[in-house]
Amino acid sequence: MQEDRKKALQGALAETENLINMFERTVRRNWDLEIPRTDFSQTAQKILANLEPAQETKEEIKEENPAPAGHGDIRLSLDLAGLKKDCASCNRCRLAQTRNNTVFGDGCEVRPDVLVVGEGPGETEDKTGLPFVGRAGELLTKMLAAISLNRESNCYITNTVKCRPPENRDPLVDEKQICGLYVRQQIALIRPKAILCLGKGASCMLTGEEDSSMGQLRGRFFFYDNSIPLICTYHPAAVLRNPDLKRPVWEDLKKLARFLNLGIAGERK
Ligand code: SF4
Repeated sequence: MQEDRKKALQGALAETENLINMFERTVRRNWDLEIPRTDFSQTAQKILANLEPAQETKEEIKEENPAPAGHGDIRLSLDLAGLKKDCASCNRCRLAQTRNNTVFGDGCEVRPDVLVVGEGPGETEDKTGLPFVGRAGELLTKMLAAISLNRESNCYITNTVKCRPPENRDPLVDEKQICGLYVRQQIALIRPKAILCLGKGASCMLTGEEDSSMGQLRGRFFFYDNSIPLICTYHPAAVLRNPDLKRPVWEDLKKLARFLNLGIAGERK
């Protein structure tokens, strides 16, 4: 119950920051005034840091996100280059047997505006070792460019699992649990200002809302680890299959852009 109230407060703080950003943009645009930018995210983080969950809530959280059985003693590198090296030789789950390359991640490695988390590598990614370089990747690049994001300067892209699942099947629960340790360590080392989850697998894993549908998860702000704003939307591969999803994805991306005060294609900043 307490956890529900905390999530509601996190959502309210995220919406407040969104409103502040909109207000500041409106003042700059309509009154041509240069006003200082408010970094409300730090204030929100301080408020949330003071909300120490009660003991029973901590137990609930633990149960929602169990450590992978038998993998509690995995030691991960404390720097990104070391972590990438660990990952390249990893055989901690069955996906190691069928991969050609691990696909660790790509982009701005130091405090990017956004860390994008997709599902798993496809055929082209498995061949090249780079995330989102096939058709879905091309669409993602365009989508990100429309809100002033690119992997060269302000965005980092990775997946919930680093090896291609055979026949592009969904990653299995144990594979996501084990490989999720890499994702969580990447987030801790890269320290993005916000996280964008693409598709149900990444969205459920990083929000902890395992039983929710994409319709329920998309377009809402969550806080990863009680500190990093996180928003979910549909996977570009799903958009390629169903163009009707373009509109909701665009709405979600604009929401993220406003939250971070990024330029939006077709709108004056
Ligand atoms: S998917 Fe992740 S955990 Fe499994 S072998 Fe690849 S890198 Fe290791």
